[in-house]
Amino acid sequence: MLRSVFRCLRTKPFSGHRSMSQSSLAGKVAIVTASTDGIGLAAAQSLGQRGAHVVVSSRRQANVDKAVELLKSQSIQVTGTTCNAGMGEDREKLIQMAVEQCGGIDILVSNAAVNPFFGNIMESTEAVWDKILDVNVKSAFLLTKLAVPHMIKRGGGSVVFVSSVAGYQPMQALGPYSVSKTALLGLTRALAPELGQSNIRVNCVAPGIIKTRFSSALWQSEDIMEEFQKQMSIKRPGEPKEIGDVVAFLCSEEASYITGETITVTGGMGCRL
Ligand code: NAP
Repeated sequence: MLRSVFRCLRTKPFSGHRSMSQSSLAGKVAIVTASTDGIGLAAAQSLGQRGAHVVVSSRRQANVDKAVELLKSQSIQVTGTTCNAGMGEDREKLIQMAVEQCGGIDILVSNAAVNPFFGNIMESTEAVWDKILDVNVKSAFLLTKLAVPHMIKRGGGSVVFVSSVAGYQPMQALGPYSVSKTALLGLTRALAPELGQSNIRVNCVAPGIIKTRFSSALWQSEDIMEEFQKQMSIKRPGEPKEIGDVVAFLCSEEASYITGETITVTGGMGCRL
């Protein structure tokens, strides 16, 4: 009896829904930028739980080490390195590492963003704009440009950009950041037709207010949250996993006919351009 159960386990493919979704990215290599905390880390977890080998990175080695340790403890295949997404040589190092150590690239999640400026947009300086556009927009494109030839070698791939609800409705005091997030909506649509010819899908996720360090000034303030909640159908901030799972969905076979799209994950906050 036991022997036949073991034989069955060895030979039968997984059939339960949980197993199927968990194994749907098996054999894929996924680069996620800014992935040692918050939404990036949650995306790495969701991709890893579905079987992908994830390449995590951020600026600080100590954060990379911590994230690698955490993901390993969750039985996720993981490789880590430092990478400041705004720096060309770091981006090249990241791509090279994925290719040399993991055998190629199938998925790129461009998640890094900075916001060095709060205030009236008319008071923002050229240096602020340069920094925000370099990290939030140009790096997303330049990393895609580096990753695409490797995806083509694997027969295709998937790119996901992380935008924001602020890309649809600029947030007061976050003007330049909001504009950079609108640019990612355009980048998604500009790249999709060209990369579709190489069997590479390009999509985007626009989170609402998500409980991470980046947005803590928003969700930790009762007054600010009260205002946001008026716009939400689900009256709470989102969890990073609620974004990570949508990212993983967009990278999976279940989304094989979706490209050039942005999925808003905002608890119902209105998103219109
Ligand atoms: P977070 O929790 O504060 O995490 C930020 C991560 O990015 C950390 O791992 C940090 O590690 C890394 N990082 C920061 N600057 C970097 C750089 N230049 N290059 C590479 N890594 C960098 O932030 P988050 O809320 O998850 O934000 C992630 C993305 O979601 C951003 O694109 C943000 O605009 C977007 N988003 C967030 C919200 C929200 O409510 N949280 C809403 C909409 C959109 P190191 O310090 O080690 O670099």
